[in-house]
Amino acid sequence: MRLPKALVQGITMRSLPLRMMSMTQANDLFAPAAVTRVAISGTDKTFPVRRVYCIGRNYAAHAIEMGHDPDKEPPFFFQKNPDNITFGDFPYPVATSDVHHEIELVVALSKGGTHIAVDAALDHVFGYAVGLDMTRRDLQGEAKRLGRPWEIGKAFEASAPCGPLIPASQIGHPDQGAIWLKVNGEIRQEGDLNQMIWKVPEMIAVLSRHFTLAPGDVIMTGTPAGVGPVTRGDVMEGHIAGVGDLTVKVV
Ligand code: MN
Repeated sequence: MRLPKALVQGITMRSLPLRMMSMTQANDLFAPAAVTRVAISGTDKTFPVRRVYCIGRNYAAHAIEMGHDPDKEPPFFFQKNPDNITFGDFPYPVATSDVHHEIELVVALSKGGTHIAVDAALDHVFGYAVGLDMTRRDLQGEAKRLGRPWEIGKAFEASAPCGPLIPASQIGHPDQGAIWLKVNGEIRQEGDLNQMIWKVPEMIAVLSRHFTLAPGDVIMTGTPAGVGPVTRGDVMEGHIAGVGDLTVKVV
């Protein structure tokens, strides 16, 4: 088995067996942070998360509602942290008074690589989930205005509620079908997966030209129009045809 580069860089770690790598080392100052694991529907297996990539403005109607011309922009990406992925309730975040829902198809990779061809990209996909790219819109807006990075608006605690993964071996690779989000039973976001400007294979190909993708990487594929704020007590119900449903309460 080939070790990930990051694990073999430290000379003192080279001679250790792989099973030791993710455990506390005798000389660790404290226990390493836990790996985030997403449940895999219908099995007792879990999907350990490595990185979380997100694409911006990937549905034309949403790009327009955010004040951009969807035809003129190449894809761009930002990242959340693996431990931002959570399950269950969404705790209203600190430092904002305008947190928005963004329903998104989540793509989970079980194979990595660089310079992945578009027509080979789906071979790298393990499965799909329904996710939410929760956004502190006020902080993101300020970051945009000042030309600053987006992390403060995007990569905060519990900012990526996620449902269980459904293997592509069961559902194939959905590229059309309804994607919607209701808040308290009222429809807020509505679109179709076929409205994605950059399709899943294209996203994987582009990302793999800029980063080394690896098993455990997930991609949040953008949100349809209708984003808006939630408050404590709201119940968000998301649906993606063929993938499933996700219900998250804001607490
Ligand atoms: Mn998003």
